[in-house]
Order: sequence, then C-alpha cells, then structure tokens
Amino acid sequence: MINMNKWESGLIQVKPGFYAYIDPDGGWFKSNTGIIDAGDYTVLVDTQYNAPRMKKILEAMKERNLPEPRLIINTHHHGDHVWANHVVGNALVISHLVTSRLIEQNMDIDPSMFKAFFPELDFTGSKHTLPNVVYEGGIGLLNLPNGVKVKMVYMGPAHTPGDTLVLAEEEGIAYTGDLVFYKVTPFALDGYLKGWIDAVEKSLMEINIDYFVPGHGPVTGKRGLEDMLEYLELVIQAAGEGYKKKLTPLQAALETDLGRFDEWVDRERIVGNIYRAYMEIEGAMPAEPVKNIASIALDMLSYKNRRNQE
Ligand SMILES: [Zn+2]
Repeated sequence: MINMNKWESGLIQVKPGFYAYIDPDGGWFKSNTGIIDAGDYTVLVDTQYNAPRMKKILEAMKERNLPEPRLIINTHHHGDHVWANHVVGNALVISHLVTSRLIEQNMDIDPSMFKAFFPELDFTGSKHTLPNVVYEGGIGLLNLPNGVKVKMVYMGPAHTPGDTLVLAEEEGIAYTGDLVFYKVTPFALDGYLKGWIDAVEKSLMEINIDYFVPGHGPVTGKRGLEDMLEYLELVIQAAGEGYKKKLTPLQAALETDLGRFDEWVDRERIVGNIYRAYMEIEGAMPAEPVKNIASIALDMLSYKNRRNQE
C-alpha cells in the first residue's frame, strides 16, 4: 500500500489496478502520469513534456507487465501533460472540447522556445498532437473491459479553462491533473482563481475519494486539498493587499510571507498567481488569456533569484 506521508516516486501502485508514475521533484514541466489497468490495455491520464520521459514510463510499465496503453486522457492543454502523446504508439487521445481547442490554438508555438526560460530542460520529441476524441459538457464516461467505470468530469475554468478530473468513484481514486498540486506550488496564471477554489472546495472536497493523484507532487488525500485551498486563499489575500497599495505583482509577491508554502517547489509562481489575481480584481473574464507572458516569466525569474540570495 502507498505511504502518503512520504513522497513516493517512480511507478507506484496506488490501489490494485490503479497506478501512477510520480516525478520525484514535480517542478516546472515535471508532471505525473496516471495509469489505469483496464484488463486488455491501460489508460493513461496525461503524458509528459518530452519523449525521453515518456519512454521511461512506458519502459517501467513493461517491466511491471502492464499492458500497452490504448487510451490517453489529457486533463488539460499544458505541454507537460500532452507533448508526448505521440510517443505512445497507437493510443487514442481523449480530452474535453475546451482543452482540444486550446491545444489547436497553441499548435504554432514551438515547444523548444521554453528553453529560453528553462535552459536545463530537454525538449527532445516535444510535439503537439490534437486529441482524437472529444467530450463536451459536464461528464464523459469510459466503460473499461475489466468492468471499471472511469468518469471524466469537466471542472474548468480552474487551473486552465479546460480542466478534466478523472474519477474511478467505486475504487475511491481520482487523477486530478493540475487541479491539484501537492508540495509543489500551484500555478494559476492560465486559470481562474475563484473557479479553482470552488472546484476544490465544492467538488473535490465533497466527493468520496481517498486517493488524489495530483498533476505535480506526491499522492495525497483530502489533507492535500486543504493545503491547496489555503495556498489559493493566501494568493487572493496577498493580491488584495498589494493591489490596494498599488504594488506590482512582483513587489506584492516579495512582500508576501509564504509561511510553510515557502518550502514548496517553485515558490516563484506566487508572482504569476498574484498577476492573475490582479486581473480578476480588475474584472477580467475567467481564465482570460494573459498578454505579456514573457515579462511575467522574467518577473518570476527575478523573484526566484532575489529569494535565493536571502
Ligand atoms: Zn498545468
């Protein structure tokens, strides 16, 4: 059985038939992939940002004698969850219509341009692929050959406009994509803070689920959701105060005491999160696209460097 007091990483069994490949760090672009054994084949929840990471997961699955993936559910459009879809043989990719549209809109962005901000990352084989199957509205359902029922629940806009929660209700397990970050700083720049808080507070907290496999960080229970909520509330609070004092998002972030979240991976995301909160204070539409992403990225970098010098 999984020990939720530890950050267990690699290919782990969460419950019989339900697995996850958990990254040991969970930082920028280092996401988790969910694996559901359907009997004749496996269903993956999200892929990875590059080909080498995806191949490593497929290798680990083979070693555990897990069948080949035939379906991939993309929980949202971010590159670290979709850019290795094409590496997974002939698997069909499913997503919500909103996510599919966002992937399509981003097709002309060259993944390797992110190297400018993350020089240490490897964008080998990072490629866009459009989902083959889309579901629209609130709920999609997969009836797997071994009798397991997997629900796809549309929860956006929250972390992004198109978030899907993947649920095996009877077994008490949820693959959340980036609706949940645990021990890794949540990132709301492409999303809607109020919607995200609602999704966690009114939906995730209320369902009868014991195990949440987050998009980044270790597997958690409701405890991890409480931490998420606390962090998102902290962002709203910090942004409210900073906005009143007419501070820039970077200045407001530097004035914010992150408390125990200071220990979470990639704390510099507070800058992007406050930026999104400012947009919401100014009446932006939920998850309205940001225009000056490069300058926000530079502000996050500058926060990181200044804080690392403390
Ligand atoms: Zn994401």
